[in-house]
Amino acid sequence: GRKFVVGGNWKMNGDKNQINEIVNNLKKGPLDPNVEVVIGVPAIYLAYVKSIVPDTIGVAAQNCWKVPKGAFTGEISPAMIKDVGADWVILGHSERRTIFGEKDDLVAEKVINIGLSQRSDCFQCFFMNSNNEKLPFQVAHALESGLKVIACIGETLEEREAGKTEEVVFRQTKALVPAIGSNWDKVVLAYEPVWAIGTGKTATPQQAQDVHASLRNWLSTNVSPEVAANVRIQYGGSVTGATAKELAARPDIDGFLVGGASLKPEFVDIVNATQ
Ligand code: 13P
Repeated sequence: GRKFVVGGNWKMNGDKNQINEIVNNLKKGPLDPNVEVVIGVPAIYLAYVKSIVPDTIGVAAQNCWKVPKGAFTGEISPAMIKDVGADWVILGHSERRTIFGEKDDLVAEKVINIGLSQRSDCFQCFFMNSNNEKLPFQVAHALESGLKVIACIGETLEEREAGKTEEVVFRQTKALVPAIGSNWDKVVLAYEPVWAIGTGKTATPQQAQDVHASLRNWLSTNVSPEVAANVRIQYGGSVTGATAKELAARPDIDGFLVGGASLKPEFVDIVNATQ
């Protein structure tokens, strides 16, 4: 069975006071012990959160750069995330793509300019390998560093309305496959339709289930039946305490990646949605 996994993506929210409140609330729980919980915190608070949170709760960075160290002012590396005791990194979030321009061509440019032959900085950032395959190297690097990865995928409203949901989600996942290699047990996929993020428009349980099921089917054909059966696929996009239970009941929804509601006490209800 796939262990249910609920991530809280705080995004750029929280100060020490609010973090103390959130963590106290998580400690109070009670959290279903059969659910894996990971909180994605702003980089500057990773060490602080790690110092106050119980070991049963995973801590994730929300992004990282592609090499262990170097002249990359303002960036943090997977090695640094590991060094402060965090175990996870969220990569390829749609806000990274849309707001910070983490797009294929930009990254290709970065790869050329920086001269890193086999590295790029996020899963939609590629280099071409000798087989003319586009490879996403931030994911590969994070995995090399021993981090676990929550890799985000998902279509925009425009893409959905054009009937391209599957095409987009498969393309995004395909780009991940060579980078993940045999490390699928360290990867969680987060299906986050962009139109559902921060909009209050949760995908219906059927909409989410349909995409999760076809993604699993794609993985079965294009990676392996074992990976398809075992990889956990989270749903993200306006999940609340009120919508979580019905979503969680669907067979291919193995958890959530929660934004706004992860800052609130109802996050506990979302963690416990399978109860
Ligand atoms: P919301 O839950 O605020 O819609 O955000 C979802 C998200 O982007 C999680 O990564």
